[in-house]
Amino acid sequence: MGHHKTVWDNPAELIRQTQPENPVMVFAPTVLQDRAREFLDGFPGLVTYAVKSNPDEAVVQNLVTAGISGFDVASPFEIDLIGRLAPQAARHYHNPVRARSEIAHAVRAGITSWSVDSRSELEKLFDMVPTQIEGRGVEISPRFKLPVLGAVYDFGSKFGATPALAAELLQLVAKRGYIPSLTFHPGTQCVDPAAWQSYITVAREICDDSGVAARRLNVGGGFPSHRVGGVEPDLQAIFAAIRDTAARAFDGNAPDLVCEPGRGLCADAFSLVTRVKGIRDGASVFLNDGVYGGLAELPVVGNLDRLEVFDPQGRPRQGDAAGRVIFGPTCDSVDRLPGELSLPADIAEGDYVVFHGAGAYSTVTNTRFNGFGVMANATVMALS
Ligand SMILES: *Cc1c(COP(=O)(O)O)cnc(C)c1O
Repeated sequence: MGHHKTVWDNPAELIRQTQPENPVMVFAPTVLQDRAREFLDGFPGLVTYAVKSNPDEAVVQNLVTAGISGFDVASPFEIDLIGRLAPQAARHYHNPVRARSEIAHAVRAGITSWSVDSRSELEKLFDMVPTQIEGRGVEISPRFKLPVLGAVYDFGSKFGATPALAAELLQLVAKRGYIPSLTFHPGTQCVDPAAWQSYITVAREICDDSGVAARRLNVGGGFPSHRVGGVEPDLQAIFAAIRDTAARAFDGNAPDLVCEPGRGLCADAFSLVTRVKGIRDGASVFLNDGVYGGLAELPVVGNLDRLEVFDPQGRPRQGDAAGRVIFGPTCDSVDRLPGELSLPADIAEGDYVVFHGAGAYSTVTNTRFNGFGVMANATVMALS
């Protein structure tokens, strides 16, 4: 009983005061708002947030407070979530394959920006989406893809038309009286600005081939978060490359630019606090969270190696780093982090391993497999 403190100074204080048995996802709203302002100040166009990366209401609310006024939504649930939390915001329905029931839902919600990557799905939009909704023109953006470069994970294997098909789709969109735009996604956690440069150059070629000037060019998500210790991504360099390439490729007459970061906005505002259940005969480390929980994407995207280890009193372990195999709590052998992670040699049972940069594709993909996956949330002033 008595006073219950709900905002902690940092993860170490939370550990010292509560010694949590279950994983805790720790959120620093100030970090999120600072990152949002970095995008708003630096990106040469409209910044929208890809809701799927972390649809936590506190995330959406803090982004709105920081000035984010657009969202990339992919489902009726996300459309309604943003409609409720940010009724003035733009919603771009950028999932290129939709059931007719989903299209009908989005039309009723007043969605005026859509993407598409095939003739069959474009026909569905032509059937069901008027060229004007509530007095506003409806924009359809063909999504195109190039062979992957620079990203850790290739979205192009699922979505994206070839440039030739995108040119055909762009022509059809314009002929039908919709606002023609273009979009792409270079792949997630893309640290190399060259990926955006290639895509923007091809966007100009698509416009030339189709004879249609795209009204807007959405350069997707893919902006990197800080996953690897000592290798901080250079967002400003990516923004500059996008701005300069668009100006050059379109001879100073570039379409209005839009981006839709997910990971790049939300990941670094969260840290995942996990506990060491056991160290099996002094070797591999078993945590209370793993790839069926908050660390779901590590086998695909690579380790989050920005981590700290604390004892149960919240004091950092300082031992020399040594490589360890790390397992999650379930009885499935794939529940293991890739390779080995460097941990202080004096790590002990009952310690806490804090993974920084854990806010994207983690809370939403957490499962209850094997009875694990109860995850608490906490708010902190700072993450270290
Ligand atoms: C997932 C997704 C994003 C966000 O990707 P990140 O790599 O997290 O920035 C943006 N746009 C679309 C269409 C997406 O599907």
